[in-house]
Amino acid sequence: MFDKISSGIKEFLDRFGRKGLLTKKDIEDGLEFFKKILISSDVNIKVAKEILRRVKKEAEKEESLKSLVPQEQMTKILYEELIRILGKTYPLKISSIPPTEIILFGIQGSGKTTTSGKLALYLQRRGYRVLLVPLDLKRPGAIEQLKEISEKVESKFFFEENKNVYSLIKKAKNFSKKNGIDFIIYDTPGRLHIDKEMMQELKDIRDEIKPKETLLVASALLGQGSVDIAIEFKRKVGLTGIIATKVDGDSKGGSILSMKFVTGVPIKFIGTGEKMEDFSEFDPESFAGRIMGFGDIKGLIKKIERVKEEEREKITLKRKEKFDLNLFLSQMETIEKMGGFSSLLSHIPGVPAGFNVDEKEIKRMKAIVQSMTKRERKHPEIIDGSRKRRIAMGSGTSVNEINKLLKNFKMMKQMMGNKNLDKIIRRGGLL
Ligand code: GDP
Ligand code: MG
Repeated sequence: MFDKISSGIKEFLDRFGRKGLLTKKDIEDGLEFFKKILISSDVNIKVAKEILRRVKKEAEKEESLKSLVPQEQMTKILYEELIRILGKTYPLKISSIPPTEIILFGIQGSGKTTTSGKLALYLQRRGYRVLLVPLDLKRPGAIEQLKEISEKVESKFFFEENKNVYSLIKKAKNFSKKNGIDFIIYDTPGRLHIDKEMMQELKDIRDEIKPKETLLVASALLGQGSVDIAIEFKRKVGLTGIIATKVDGDSKGGSILSMKFVTGVPIKFIGTGEKMEDFSEFDPESFAGRIMGFGDIKGLIKKIERVKEEEREKITLKRKEKFDLNLFLSQMETIEKMGGFSSLLSHIPGVPAGFNVDEKEIKRMKAIVQSMTKRERKHPEIIDGSRKRRIAMGSGTSVNEINKLLKNFKMMKQMMGNKNLDKIIRRGGLL
């Protein structure tokens, strides 16, 4: 499963293993190589471009962390961007009044009938009563196949000799109400190729049933072909989800990576073999981890997060230690030039409203700081009562004003210790 794409991704990541820092050139060369891997893995061109764009953007943004090798950083970026492309996990929708009706659509051989049984088993294991209904009335073999499958998974099965698919649907609905059925799964006809007539027929069936879920069963082995099929079904019939089948034989992963992004329709389940148990909810995180060839990608992500946090804490601590009255003064000047405090501080939680400085005040602050000794500016905590009186005399201000300045300084210093300060300031549009 996915061995072709994952060996390609490994090769891509290995390129970053030896280098000390992540440079722009490294990133560009690496991505050029990565593009080829994506394309040869049947990843849709739009999706490939989007992955490359996002990885590039993130990689250039990424701070160079000394305690992480570029390979680890790139791994994390790629993992996160793949997940973003794939979306979340999308659970099955359930009707508030049973039964919840599900239609499976798809071309012939994609695995609809098999998947009907798999989905029935999946739901029964969660305590639901499931009814399987064949709607492929033209092929007697299709009805028999679904019946056998329903016996295998021990679900209910409903069929009556009837020439009309609509009356069969009505009868199945009635049967389910009488028998306390929670889910009806309709297996539908599908031809080898999509044509207008078939699409209209399927649309009519869907309109008659008004299902909670209209799911496309699509073979992952078709690569770009399955993306085209999904586009077509979405446009002509409408879809609420996709079940990707034959994932066990898929070495490329391209169709799974592409379908959601291209169509906007989420992948809800995957089929991973011929047995009824070979079926699971689609989990973007584990899929991304698998195509990247990692057993324990979550462990690596946690490590990277921890290192980042530690680095950020160190930077913050240094910033706070360095912060003295000289820096305070120059900061006040900058803020005043930028149009006062309130616009900046309104973004910071815990700052009292109306806290502001104006030009006149800056002048007085300057006078106060200039009347201090070098040591006092570096270590304001030594400024006691007698020093305050001396500074007030020297600057032509009052002890009250000095107290106010020291209070503001303290508050600013506290802010310097906020790990998220950069983010806050950036959000305020000041960086
Ligand atoms: P339908 O024409 O869409 O109803 O397709 P079927 O359900 O009859 O399946 C066609 C073939 O695909 C059968 O041989 C199934 O056993 C096989 N198949 C279905 N799903 C999977 C899967 O997830 N993995 C594998 N390996 N084979 C599958
Ligand atoms: Mg079938």
